[in-house]
Amino acid sequence: MPVSILIAIFLAFELEEIRGISTSFGFGEAGRIGVVAASIAAVAAVSFAVGRFVAWRVDRGGYGSERLRRAYAIAGRVVAILVLLSYASILYVANWRSIVEVDFGLRGAFFLDEFLILLPYLIAQFTAWWGLYAAERSLRLASTRISDRGGLFVYLSLKARQSLALALPIVLIFLLGEDLGDRFAPNLDRSPWLQLGLIGLIGSTVLITAPAFVRLSLPASPLPDGPLRRRLETLMRRCGFRCSNILIWRTGHSLVNAGVTGIWSRFRYVLLTDALVDRLDEHQVEAVFGHEIGHIARRHFFLFSFFFIGSGAIISLAALGAHGLLTTVPGGRLASAFNGVAAGFNGVEAIETGLVIVAAIVYLIVGFGHVSRRFEREADVYGCRAVSCGSDDCPPHLDVNAGSGAIGVAERICPVGLRTFATALAEVAELNGIDRDARSWRHGGIGKRIAFLESLENRPQVQDRYARGSRRFRVVFATALVAAVAAAVATGALAKALTF
Ligand SMILES: [Zn+2]
Ligand SMILES: [Zn+2]
Repeated sequence: MPVSILIAIFLAFELEEIRGISTSFGFGEAGRIGVVAASIAAVAAVSFAVGRFVAWRVDRGGYGSERLRRAYAIAGRVVAILVLLSYASILYVANWRSIVEVDFGLRGAFFLDEFLILLPYLIAQFTAWWGLYAAERSLRLASTRISDRGGLFVYLSLKARQSLALALPIVLIFLLGEDLGDRFAPNLDRSPWLQLGLIGLIGSTVLITAPAFVRLSLPASPLPDGPLRRRLETLMRRCGFRCSNILIWRTGHSLVNAGVTGIWSRFRYVLLTDALVDRLDEHQVEAVFGHEIGHIARRHFFLFSFFFIGSGAIISLAALGAHGLLTTVPGGRLASAFNGVAAGFNGVEAIETGLVIVAAIVYLIVGFGHVSRRFEREADVYGCRAVSCGSDDCPPHLDVNAGSGAIGVAERICPVGLRTFATALAEVAELNGIDRDARSWRHGGIGKRIAFLESLENRPQVQDRYARGSRRFRVVFATALVAAVAAAVATGALAKALTF
């Protein structure tokens, strides 16, 4: 799931609603256009510099060293953050939203206003991909494991599809809901609870129907009948897992990956890329497939939506806290000291906004990162179990997915199952040119994930302890979020945030 665009949407629409950030900076028209141009130019300068530099180093050395790849991975993350910062400055410093709504006169225009508000983000993001393309291409060609077909245009459209395919329908439904709400029930804003209900309704519609959009927007076709399909169907029966179809996602053999979408089995697809099915053997594909089933079996989609609802409550509490801090005498005096910095600059408002933004970003980075890595690990364990025979004295190992599907999923991981999954994971990383030791905010580094699985090998007590810990985490996680929502409701923080 592309987090970056969700943060952009949050910055553009939600934070704006919550805080009502307005002309805090007294730039004139030319100044504001200058800020927009400079923000995009900064992204272009950094990403092209990184792209060219990496390509030059690879050309010079004839290969991409581990050190270079690692440095590039970090640079890529810096560019991603820069894209968001540049968009934030366009939104808040240049006050882009008022340019669209007031200067272009598009307030309340159906969809067009929202699209134009998001446009600078899309431009910045495409600029960044374009800039980094030189690096991606030379690193990929240097490893020669995956072909490079189609050039820049194919690369950009792949990137766009990968990160926008799921997010755009969500945005569309969300904005449609808001537009319809504004048009047909303008008084809804006065009642926070009705609005919360509406958000819930829109959210569930998105969750249920998004996979259908993914199906329509990705170049994918059903996995043809054959030995692999039959084995995967056996695995699905063993797990009690249902989906609408198993799809092969055609990426021009440039991406080794898999994914699952949909909380409702009728609209649920498992996606396997063309290169994944080509490069991994059938047992490894089953292990990866098992990982995706694990996300569904462990209800990660539900828990994530729950996480975001709880996060809304936590951020609204933070906003209330910031407000409280600044209305104390010393806090207020300190903030208002900044009032005359620029024409129309309101110190209290700016500091309050800044505090909320920083708190929200830190919270999302730490909280969301932790939860996703934990969920990835749970799915990894499930992936191992999907190809484990469950026998105490394996090997000899029983090929569980060759049979009729009568044998359920093993409670514990066997050594052969563990090896199958771990080699699949390592292979996926290598084929995609990902360094094993590179850290990943959302998935955890490959090396660490494998080391964790190895720590479970032949140690049933450790496996049981992990399963118990997992269950305990769910209970604590759910309780904490319910408590946050309750606190936000009780203190009025949520109602306040929603009525802004
Ligand atoms: Zn996963
Ligand atoms: Zn076994």
